[in-house]
Amino acid sequence: MHGRMMTKALTVSSLIAHSARYHGTGEVVSVETAGGVERTNWRAIEANARRLASALERLGIGQTERCATLAWNNRRHLEIYFGVAGAGMVCHTINPRLFSEQLIYIMNHAEDRVLFLDRTFLPVVAALRPRLETVRHFVLMEPRDDEAAAAFDGLRFYDELLGEGAESYEWPDLDENAPSNLCYTSGTTGHPKGVEYTHRTTVLHTLGSNQPDGIGLSARDTVLAVVPMFHVNAWGVPYIAAAVGAKLVLPGPNPDGEALIGLIDAEKVTLALGVPTIWMGLLSALERTGSRIESLKRTVVGGSALPKVMIPAFRDGYGVDLVHAWGMTETSPLGTMNQLLQRHDAMSVRERQRIREGQGRPPYGVELRIVDDAGAVLAEDGKTQGRLQIRGHWVIDSYFKAGESALTDDGWFDTGDVATIDPDGYMVVRDRAKDIIKSGGEWISTVELEDIAMTHPAIASAAAIAARHPEWDERPVLIAVRRPGSAVSEQEILDHFTGKVARWQEPDAVVFVDQLPLGGTGKVLKTKLREDYGGILL
Ligand code: ADP
Repeated sequence: MHGRMMTKALTVSSLIAHSARYHGTGEVVSVETAGGVERTNWRAIEANARRLASALERLGIGQTERCATLAWNNRRHLEIYFGVAGAGMVCHTINPRLFSEQLIYIMNHAEDRVLFLDRTFLPVVAALRPRLETVRHFVLMEPRDDEAAAAFDGLRFYDELLGEGAESYEWPDLDENAPSNLCYTSGTTGHPKGVEYTHRTTVLHTLGSNQPDGIGLSARDTVLAVVPMFHVNAWGVPYIAAAVGAKLVLPGPNPDGEALIGLIDAEKVTLALGVPTIWMGLLSALERTGSRIESLKRTVVGGSALPKVMIPAFRDGYGVDLVHAWGMTETSPLGTMNQLLQRHDAMSVRERQRIREGQGRPPYGVELRIVDDAGAVLAEDGKTQGRLQIRGHWVIDSYFKAGESALTDDGWFDTGDVATIDPDGYMVVRDRAKDIIKSGGEWISTVELEDIAMTHPAIASAAAIAARHPEWDERPVLIAVRRPGSAVSEQEILDHFTGKVARWQEPDAVVFVDQLPLGGTGKVLKTKLREDYGGILL
């Protein structure tokens, strides 16, 4: 007879139960949508999450039914994360920056039963309401407000709903393979697709992404989640913070550079996470305000490629280590993080920086490979480019309601990115397969051209696109935004590329615009740019 070990389901409620029990007085700081800063702790968050779970059961919401949110990063949103999933329902975070038609599609497709919303989104929800087929309860994330109640028939109020829940509610035992949350990809082509995580994948992602060479958060940290809670569950930060009992700072509706500096200094933030545009905004705000953001040690940057110039700007100017990470909605999201190995210590600052500009290596729990268009596995020599594929404990199998598997015949998920992997496993995203420029059979990376453009002092932001060309099929064109007050010419920017890439990789033209079009997750909409400028070389 063998011995036996306990089997305990990996559930989202176990994370918050842990922080309530062992880090009960650990702080949660929240910038409220109505203004002002609220301070609470993990014990109180868990108590409210249980009340909410109980109230939702009393409303008749069944297991695995979806409760949606349209909300900023704040305290009530955090309670909803844990209350909904803890009760066995599915927390469906919706990106409010999507177009109305996409919002309607997503809510009907998800068959959301409850919609929790911040006041910011009351007008848009009122307008969409006649077309929402499944939502039974609209809950404003506030105390009762008679004016709002009068304007929106049947509107409920979060604080009243909590009051209807039982304080004695206990987390139910759940199957760890039951769904816990749902996120839709932004769907630049076709309808958005839903990725439904399970309790098991969420907990494994929490543990796997927080290893020392990963996010590496501890109870001694104060973490600022700038990445929105509607963007792949804020990269899992709320779960990680609960698991380790870190102090959590939620920046509310307007996380601009100056607001972030204020929070970092006031709350002594040690680690912050967000997309590159956030940190660009922070850099220019730092120059204006003169703050030294003394407490901040690290920021984790991902979601799109980290502009190379940012690493030395933060390191040399402020002593902040920028850690580059890569992932996607389909991978929960963490796929790679960029930390150095021991033997890199002997290298020069320049060499180490070059390694860290890439997207990094997988933590325990996921594996990567690159393949050619026929699916043959390619060499990991740091030079060969191929389609990036991933598999692991927190990677999608099939999309919500799709039935069929989204994987290759041998069980890998194709990310749609084109990458290289070196012998140590360091991965570099060269481009998205649909953005890369195919000029006369050779590939040109738009990411590389953008990086070079960004090193020109007169350029504020830039995107390279494939423009159709009669002879070469496609040629690179740079769409650029000048810095305020600059009158730099097209020729000066073209000259800036000389010697930095092969002659045939240099852009054929530069188009100056006032701003680049951004999609729902803050990424440049290259489809739109190709529509507008893809024909200018014909
Ligand atoms: P969507 O695919 O809808 O834009 P995701 O947030 O899932 O939304 O985006 C995942 C994609 O974002 C990746 O496939 C990759 O192309 C890009 N991406 C994420 N992180 C990085 C990074 N650090 N560098 C370059 N690209 C990145």
